[in-house]
Amino acid sequence: MESYGKINIFISQSETGSQAMLEYVFTQIFCEWYGREINVFSDTSLISTAHIVYCDSPSLCNSCSALTVYRHHNIDEEISQLGKWNELPVFFESKEAYNSFDIPFDIFQAVFLLISRREEYPSLNRNLSFDKHGRYDYKQSLAYRLDFLDRPLVDEWLTEFEKAFNSKIQGISLVPKNNQHLITIDVDNIYAIKNKGIVKTLLSLAIAKIKGRESDLKLRLAVLFRKKEDPFFNICEIAVKLPRESVMFFHCGGYGKNDKKTLFPSLKYWKAKQRIDKMINVGLHPSYRSAHSLALLKFEKWILEKCLGRKVTSTRMHYLLFNFPKTAHTLMNIGITDDYSLAYSDIPGYRASTARSFKFFDCEKNCATNLTLHPLIVMDKTLRSNLNMSPDQAVIYLKKLKEQCEKSNVPLTMLFHNQNLSEIDGWGEWNKVFDSVL
Ligand SMILES: [Zn+2]
Repeated sequence: MESYGKINIFISQSETGSQAMLEYVFTQIFCEWYGREINVFSDTSLISTAHIVYCDSPSLCNSCSALTVYRHHNIDEEISQLGKWNELPVFFESKEAYNSFDIPFDIFQAVFLLISRREEYPSLNRNLSFDKHGRYDYKQSLAYRLDFLDRPLVDEWLTEFEKAFNSKIQGISLVPKNNQHLITIDVDNIYAIKNKGIVKTLLSLAIAKIKGRESDLKLRLAVLFRKKEDPFFNICEIAVKLPRESVMFFHCGGYGKNDKKTLFPSLKYWKAKQRIDKMINVGLHPSYRSAHSLALLKFEKWILEKCLGRKVTSTRMHYLLFNFPKTAHTLMNIGITDDYSLAYSDIPGYRASTARSFKFFDCEKNCATNLTLHPLIVMDKTLRSNLNMSPDQAVIYLKKLKEQCEKSNVPLTMLFHNQNLSEIDGWGEWNKVFDSVL
């Protein structure tokens, strides 16, 4: 049937823009996101068969029945302000293109620029700044500087592109894939009270006693005497509530200032991980230290694989320590195919301006890869600690984010921590935030 045919894309011969980059972005958009096949060519004698004409010449657009897309010449051009197309902010546009092209800005290079994250590569950008954990400072990003970090701009563009395509092209159409919202859980600490070692345990009891914290003391004693479950050991109850496609990431590293707060793992924890692996998806949460040590990272992956009895192929970096392109190289090196770290820790939003998953393009080697990056949009800790939201405000905020994503037919990926779904450290009420997204 014609509507399942290939999309023919004519691209003008040009010195600019890399072939690998264009191939990648066409494949990502049309094949991966829309599930269509494509046929890309530059032979002008075949231009009448094209569904999309991608060029810089208005004369080629005249009397063209294809959807015409303006081709911009310099992807490295400094972008200091935005234009407007169909009420959406755009760049890589040309004033003249508004009169002659259906899509007057270079949507393909613009999508590439935003999802490739080339602006985060130290080798391609001088004087980048990083925070105390070595993470890219989001304030340098184009999305933050030009005020669109809070919207899935790539997805909004594609919704408009889809409409333009479907209304101009007969017999073939672009239909977005169905996307479900995704809940993910990071398990950093499995014990709040137990398995801390004798010194720390006695010290905590003494502090609770001296400071007159009666309920804290009671809870600690009840847990230590096995009358009550440790408040952080809530992972099975969480997993039972989650939809099948959810992902839980387990920290498998050792004790450390920025790592786990437990000295010894327990057999019970080992078995809980195996049980959860049968209910939902499970991935590795590489420790803070392993982000800087390949040997340690391999060891942690091996531990989780031993426990689950299968290969582990998904990760989310602890502290969202994901640096382009270094972390991607490391993860591919150890056989990871899916990573869920793409977010900024201090602010919610769309780090790659999309909520859709996409393949990592290596801007240093100039090639597409098989590593899928799953953008994370919002994390519990950011809402409470950085935005100072109350649980009620967070419920409303998440509802709005969901609606924003549904408008563009894209999934909202959220992150909760098991320890923040327990009753301690003032997180008690945040359970209702979690329940609101189930
Ligand atoms: Zn973590």
